[in-house]
Amino acid sequence: MIYLDYSATTPVDYEVIDAMNRTYKDYVGNANSINNLGKRSNDLLSASTKQIADILKCNQDEIIFTSGATESNNMAIMGTAFANHRRGKHIITSKLEHPSVLKVVEYLGTCGFEIDYVKNDKDGLINFEHLKELIREDTILVSICAVNSELGIRQPLKMIKQVIKKENSNTYFHSDVTQALGKVDINMIDLDLASASSHKLYGPKGVGLLFKRNTITIKPLLYGSSNITNLRPGTPPLELIVGFSKALRLSILDIEKRNNYIEKLNNKITRELEGKKGILINKTKYSVPQILSISLVNIKPEVIVNALGENEIYISTNTACSSGELSEVIIAVHNDRLRAKTSIRISISHLTTLDEVNTFLNHLTNIYEKYMNLK
Ligand code: PMP
Repeated sequence: MIYLDYSATTPVDYEVIDAMNRTYKDYVGNANSINNLGKRSNDLLSASTKQIADILKCNQDEIIFTSGATESNNMAIMGTAFANHRRGKHIITSKLEHPSVLKVVEYLGTCGFEIDYVKNDKDGLINFEHLKELIREDTILVSICAVNSELGIRQPLKMIKQVIKKENSNTYFHSDVTQALGKVDINMIDLDLASASSHKLYGPKGVGLLFKRNTITIKPLLYGSSNITNLRPGTPPLELIVGFSKALRLSILDIEKRNNYIEKLNNKITRELEGKKGILINKTKYSVPQILSISLVNIKPEVIVNALGENEIYISTNTACSSGELSEVIIAVHNDRLRAKTSIRISISHLTTLDEVNTFLNHLTNIYEKYMNLK
C-alpha cells in the first residue's frame, strides 16, 4: 500500500499508541470525579494539557478539548457570534477555508449576521488592503486558516493580526490551524482563537482543541456538567488527550529536517509532471510542501483516484471533505473552472519514501497516457 493522503488523516504513531494504551490500563478514574482515582486521572490530564500549552505558548486554561477541528471551528465562530452580537454582527472570512468554517458562517448569515469574504492574490495570499477596507466598527470576528487544506497555502498570521487589530482592536482573530500544526511553527501569541485536530499529526481521531485567549468571551455549544471548563462539558477523553499531547510533542521534533525531506519529494513529483499537456500544478509559492494539488484537465479526478486505488495507492480528489465537488479554493486562486473540476490532492509525509513516490509516478503516468491516448 502507498498512502499519499496524509492531509486527510495520518496513521497513529506507535509511541502515541503506547502512551494511550498505558493510560487505558492504568487510569480508570473519571477526571471529573473527586475520589482518588479521579484525582489521579485529573493530574495526568493537567500534565498533558500543560505540555500542549507549553508548545503552543499559551496558558493551560486557554485550551478547550473538543472532538476535533470541526467542533472547534463551530465553537469558535458560533460561540463568538452568539456571545458578541450586541457589539456587532459582521464577520470576515476567506474563500480558502474548510467547510467547517464556511458552512458555519453560511448558517450565521441566515441568523442575521453579515458575512464578507476577503480577497486573495494570485498566489492565494490574503489581500491586506481588502481586509483593511472590510474591517468595520461592528466586525466581531475575522477567521482565516493558517494553512489551507487543498493547496496548502500558508498565511502570515502575525501580519494579519496586526492589520486586524490596527483597524479594530475589539475584533477577534480566529485561525483554523488544523493543517498547520506539526508542519510549521504556530504560536498562539498571534491569535485570539485557534482550532486544531489530533488526527492530522499522527495522533488519535476524535480529539481536537480550541485555543481561546482568556480575555475572549464565547458562548458554549454544549451544556451539561462542567469539567475542566464550562465551555465544553462532559467526561474528558483522557486517553485521547494523552495521545494528542504525545503526538504534538513528537510532531515538532525535527520539523525543519522533515520539511526539507518532504519538499524534495514534492519537487520530484512536480518536476515529473510539470509541462505535460493537460497537467497543471496548482500549488503556489506559499504552499507548504506536505500538500500538492494538481489538475489533469482531461481526466475525471474520480477515475484517477479509483485507478490508483486498484493498485493500492491512496490519494484524494480536491480534499477528503469535498470529494467530487468543484473546488472553490482553486477558483479563488486560479480562477479556472476546468482546473477546479479536475484537481487531485497528493499529501506527503516524512514517512513517504522515494520508492513510493516513484511507484506513484509510474502508475499516474500510465493512467495519464492511457486517457490521453498516448499508448
Ligand atoms: N480544518 C481543516 C483545515 C481540515 O483540513 C480539517 C480536516 N479535513 C478540519 C478542519 C476538520 O477536522 P476534523 O476532521 O478533526 O473535524
